[in-house]
Amino acid sequence: MTKYIFVTGGVVSSLGKGIVAASLGKLLTARGYSVVIQKFDPYINVDPGTMSPFQHGEVFVTDDGAETDLDLGHYERFTGTNLGKINNVTSGSVYQTVIKKERRGDYLGATVQTIPHITNEIKSRLKKATTQFKPDFLIAEIGGTIGDIEGLPFIEAIRQFRSEVGFGNSISIHVTLIPYLQAAGEMKTKPSQHSVTTLRSYGIQPEILVCRTSKSIPKKEIEKLALFCSVPKEAVIECKDLKSIYEVPLALEEQNLASVVLSRLQMKDKTPKLEEWRKLVEKIKNPQKTFNVVIAGKYTKLSDAYISVVESLKHAGYAHSAQINIKWVSADECIDEAKAKEAMKDADALVVPGGFGVRGIEGKLNVIRIAREKNIPFLGLCLGMQCAVIEYARNVVGWKDANSTEFEEGTTHPVIDLMLEQKNVEGYGGTMRLGQYECRLTKGTKAQKAYGKDVIFERHRHRYEVNHELRKQISDAGLVFSGMSPDGMLAEIVELPQNDWFVACQFHPEFKSRPEKPHPLFKGLISAVDKQKSSKNQVK
Ligand code: GLN
Repeated sequence: MTKYIFVTGGVVSSLGKGIVAASLGKLLTARGYSVVIQKFDPYINVDPGTMSPFQHGEVFVTDDGAETDLDLGHYERFTGTNLGKINNVTSGSVYQTVIKKERRGDYLGATVQTIPHITNEIKSRLKKATTQFKPDFLIAEIGGTIGDIEGLPFIEAIRQFRSEVGFGNSISIHVTLIPYLQAAGEMKTKPSQHSVTTLRSYGIQPEILVCRTSKSIPKKEIEKLALFCSVPKEAVIECKDLKSIYEVPLALEEQNLASVVLSRLQMKDKTPKLEEWRKLVEKIKNPQKTFNVVIAGKYTKLSDAYISVVESLKHAGYAHSAQINIKWVSADECIDEAKAKEAMKDADALVVPGGFGVRGIEGKLNVIRIAREKNIPFLGLCLGMQCAVIEYARNVVGWKDANSTEFEEGTTHPVIDLMLEQKNVEGYGGTMRLGQYECRLTKGTKAQKAYGKDVIFERHRHRYEVNHELRKQISDAGLVFSGMSPDGMLAEIVELPQNDWFVACQFHPEFKSRPEKPHPLFKGLISAVDKQKSSKNQVK
């Protein structure tokens, strides 16, 4: 039987509830239990796919093509599982289902209400995830902060669900903030007391408090929290700010979080297998070298917009005991060639990530050209690959006006064009080429060697593709199409054999990288950097 762990947040947003949920997931999987994590987001968008990355950060794509919250990326990376559509539930998706049923007449004349119809639908999503994965533990994280009006139906659904599954089968973890007041020289527990009082007023008594803090919490304050929040002392868990998110599971293990969870859920505690993870954290804490990687993108003011790209670079760095120093470059500033050169001056590698819209494209083409001509290792992701093809078509093939029809409809050389199946698509929500597709690799290419396989599966999120009609001329001019869709119609990977690493892909490899298992294409990029730098050092 599945046991349920509900994670809510108190006092402020951005507490890192997702990392806490993912870390607990890690600690339970390390004990041999199966864990699935589900995120409930109270906003009205049906999914985050239509939201600007400035609003919401990255849109994480699952194998089954769901456009989801970036926390699902953390869940997958920490627990090593592959999640899907059912793992991200929004108010919008809940209301959409209920309203569809109402229009069909499924409610047989009843007045459709928040309770029970919306709360029933929320509970049915918990049950659906349970049936689909049959996990030992289902961790459900509720987005937002306790006290938010829009989160109430979710909290009410949890209250009902907890009494339905019965005592000992579910627990509530409240992640809260313990601020340090400089002027008073004290840590303050009052905001957390209020947050727990609010949560209780909704009918939920938390069993465990996870306290986010910048400093160690004195024993006296732990006792105060325990007393006022009716939580035993050993269930008040300190969770201090740490340099790397991958240290969090180990810090929580030291605080016995998983053991407390297991005892409350009347499950057997076991010795966790965390040796590999500990080794990883040692590597993270003791880097032997630093590599400078330029990310030239559009949403560079908010690093969360590219969180999986950043994590994937770090993962590849760990494998080389290297710290990745990211230099964020706003692509539209590189439209000026001198600025592009300046941006690339100390770059050991260049990554051009995914994106939408024309802004900054010319700047991306400038930095890609520099990487290509100077043999600076380069990885292009989705839009990054489309830009690499446009750059090659303009500056090597010689089609000066080569472009994507996304940016210039009337170009005479539309090297990137709308996919056939996208031509008659209406609306923006969930209508791209989404999720996992097969790709065949050409033997002997850099991509094929990096993967060590001939067939791969990768996740997509795009509308445009390399124009089939113009591909031959581009490939005759030297750009190698090393990965293709099984029918040979869609270009999935391009590369330049003469460069140390100039590889770009139409898919998003960043969604499949794991801290202990970096993605082959990111590994390829960072290995090339490592080789270049060590040979330069030898020459010196
Ligand atoms: N805008 C491009 C397309 O739709 C690339 C999308 C992306 O980078 N995810 O094809």
